[in-house]
Amino acid sequence: MNIDFQELADKYQTPYYVYDFDYITKQFNELKEAFKARKSLIAYALKANSNLSLIKHLAKQGSGADCVSIGEVKRALKVGIPAYKIIFSGVGKIDLEIKQALELNILMINVESEAELERIESIAKSLNKIVRISIRVNPNIDPKTHPYISTGLHENKFGVDINTAKRMYIKCKNSKSLEPVGIHCHIGSQLTKLEPLTEAISILASLLKNLKAIKIDISFFDVGGGLGIIYDNETLIDTQEYAQMILKELFGLDITIVCEPGRFLVGNCGFFITKVLYEKTNESKRFVIVDGAMNDLLRPALYNAHHKVELLNDNKDISDCNLVGPICESGDFFAKDIKLPSSQHNDLVAIYGAGAYCFTMSSNYNTRPRVAEIAIEAGKDRLIRQRETFEDLIALEEKFL
Ligand SMILES: *Cc1c(COP(=O)(O)O)cnc(C)c1O
Repeated sequence: MNIDFQELADKYQTPYYVYDFDYITKQFNELKEAFKARKSLIAYALKANSNLSLIKHLAKQGSGADCVSIGEVKRALKVGIPAYKIIFSGVGKIDLEIKQALELNILMINVESEAELERIESIAKSLNKIVRISIRVNPNIDPKTHPYISTGLHENKFGVDINTAKRMYIKCKNSKSLEPVGIHCHIGSQLTKLEPLTEAISILASLLKNLKAIKIDISFFDVGGGLGIIYDNETLIDTQEYAQMILKELFGLDITIVCEPGRFLVGNCGFFITKVLYEKTNESKRFVIVDGAMNDLLRPALYNAHHKVELLNDNKDISDCNLVGPICESGDFFAKDIKLPSSQHNDLVAIYGAGAYCFTMSSNYNTRPRVAEIAIEAGKDRLIRQRETFEDLIALEEKFL
C-alpha cells in the first residue's frame, strides 16, 4: 500500500478517510478461496462501512450483504447486490422494516427472539407471504474480546439460547408463513482466537443435526463475522484454519456456508488523515491538537480502542504526548501517552486501521461537517463522499425557523 497522503491532502483538504479498494479485493478473495470446497456466500456486514462506492466494489466481487436496518438493505440493493444475497439481522426490527424486508424478498431474516418471530409471522400472514427465517443462536461462549463487542454470552442481548431456538424452529415448521432455512451465530468482533469460534460452531452443528432428525432441514449455516484485524501487534486467525474448522464441523452435511465479515474485509484498508493545528504543554503534559476529532472517529473514545498513529514528518526529537481533537470533551482523543516527534502546523497525522466502524460512527457533534471519503484503486484516487457543508448540516432545521 503506497498512498501519498500529502498529495491527497492538497487535493481534498483534511481531515479525510482514504480506502484502498485493492486491499478489499484481496481480503475478499482470500476468504472466498478458503471456502472454495463448498457452496458459500460471503455477506459483507455493511455496518462496518456502508459507503455506496465501497459496497459497490464488494458487489462486483460477488459479495452479499448482512444488514442491520432496512436502510442498509436499501443501500445494498442500490449498488446491485441481489436480494437473494441479502440477510437482515438485529435485535430490534420495527414493523415497517419487517414489512419492507418481506416485500423486497431478501434471502432471510435473522430472528433474535420468540416475540420477534411472532411479529414476523403475523406481518407475513397479513401480506400473504412466506418468509425465510434464520434463528440467531446465542451459544453462551466468551469470545475473549472487548466486552462492548462481545455478543455471544447469555448476558448479552443477542440471539436466543439453544432450547428457545428449538422451539422457534418447530414453530416455523408448523407455520404456513414461516420457512426455516438458516441457523446463525455471531459471538463477537475483533476475534483473534479460533477456539471460541470452534466451540460456538460445534454447538450450532449439533443443533443442526438435532433439527435434521426431526425433519427440519436447514440450507444455510451462517457463522457470523468477527474475524480480527491488525490494530497493534495482534496475531490473527488464519483464514485457512478458520475455514477448515468450519468444513470439518459440517462434514457430510449438504449446506451452504454463510460468513458475515465486516472488519476483516475493510478495517485495514482505511486511513484517517488529519493535520496538526497546534502543540501545547500543560505543566509537563504535551498535547498535539489536530483538526480531526471524536465525531469523525469515535473508537478511542467509545472503546478506548487502540489505533496506530504516525506523524508524517522527519523530525527526530520524539517525546510523549496525547493526540487530541478540538471538541469540548476530555474523551476527544485519538491516542494517549504515545511517542511522537515534534510537529509544526499542517504536518499530517495518519491513523491506521480506520476502514471499519470509523466513518459509519461519525456524527455532526459541535456542528462539524462529516469529512470526505476517498478511494484508491489501481493507483488512482477518486472522491466517494464529498465533505459536508454547513448548509448540509442545517438543511433539515432551517425550514422551521
Ligand atoms: C456486526 C456484525 C457482523 C460483522 O462483525 P465484524 O466483527 O465486523 O466481522 C456480522 N454479523 C452480525 C450479525 C453483526 O451484528
